[in-house]
Amino acid sequence: MKVLKFGGSSVADAERIKQLSDIVIRAHQENGSIAVVVSALKGVTDTLINMGTIASTGSKAYLTELNQVHERHRDVARDLVEGKELDSLLSTIQSFFNELSDTLHGVRLVKELSNRTLDLIMSYGEQLSAIIIATFLKLQLSIVEYLDAREVIVTNRSFGSASIDEEVTYHKICEYFNSGSVLPIITGFIAATPAGETTTLGRGGSDFTAAIVGAALQADAIEIWTDVDGVMTADPRKVPKAFAIPQMSYHELMEMSHFGAEVVYPPTISPAMRRKIPIWIKNSFHPEVKGTQVTQSVDNRKEILVRGISSVDNVSLLRLEGNGMIGVAGVASRLFGALAKNQISVMIITQGSSEHSICFAVL
Ligand code: ADP
Ligand code: ASP
Ligand code: MG
Repeated sequence: MKVLKFGGSSVADAERIKQLSDIVIRAHQENGSIAVVVSALKGVTDTLINMGTIASTGSKAYLTELNQVHERHRDVARDLVEGKELDSLLSTIQSFFNELSDTLHGVRLVKELSNRTLDLIMSYGEQLSAIIIATFLKLQLSIVEYLDAREVIVTNRSFGSASIDEEVTYHKICEYFNSGSVLPIITGFIAATPAGETTTLGRGGSDFTAAIVGAALQADAIEIWTDVDGVMTADPRKVPKAFAIPQMSYHELMEMSHFGAEVVYPPTISPAMRRKIPIWIKNSFHPEVKGTQVTQSVDNRKEILVRGISSVDNVSLLRLEGNGMIGVAGVASRLFGALAKNQISVMIITQGSSEHSICFAVL
């Protein structure tokens, strides 16, 4: 059993979706049981957020983008599907856009965009891409079916970055897979509260969806298909000479992704690590390239002392210092307690042995 996840650039247009289909069919022939998780078409989530923001000012200016994004999805559908299937797909796309348009109209009238409403607006990106890809793939493999992740992934009400209820979610995923031999095309990024409200797992969260599905099913591998040859030694946009790392450990990937290597969404690693499921980072533009394999431990540590370098922009470094701190118990507790109370996550902490200062970094 394998879970394959395709990011925005791997589903950007009809050509990319055809390439995805080749990869999925090959994986199905080689492994039998697979599940596929897809992101929204490249750039669509940003467009949806932008439309919501414009609507919340009371302006109708979002309508131009709404029409463009509708036309883009219709074009992709027309390039992939024809006949009766196309008619039915176009009418599903139309009904998604009717709902989205009604929601945006509501936001414009009340001039308010809550995180909860924004999650609902963003969810259409993955719903649209998954239905188009599922319809196209079903023409080639009859066991393919569309799966709205809101049916199986249950979260709390932290809209915008919800936490999953692992027990319920894993149970629902297993129940779904035990009900028959299917190859689901699952909407990444989106989930639902027990009351059925739409939530999202944080930007880049489709990787996390794949890890949740993989962990629930105790998959043999989770494959993250993206637009680079694997996890690179540095951000390839900043360091052109960066090259793909063949193997790394979960901990190394955690460090790199937390510190800016956006190739994998950081929460993805933990479900895979707990169940010891290898994560592969692969390039959907060059499927023949081996990619990066991420496992518990890697045996070539001696050869490569530094696995990679990552960087984060816009970090604030703060220092609390004073003679009154020296040897006084409870200073750190008050400082970090105050930060925790205000939901501020701290990236790095250092304290000199003199206890004269505490330095920490926040985003
Ligand atoms: P997807 O849409 O497939 O989820 P992302 O844009 O989220 O893709 O992540 C892939 C991008 O991450 C690459 O195109 C690359 O520019 C960027 N990136 C930043 N740091 C790294 C790194 N160390 N290794 C690989 N890619 C990186
Ligand atoms: N579409 C979502 C985003 O852009 C999720 C993802 O692509 O992983 O953040
Ligand atoms: Mg991503």
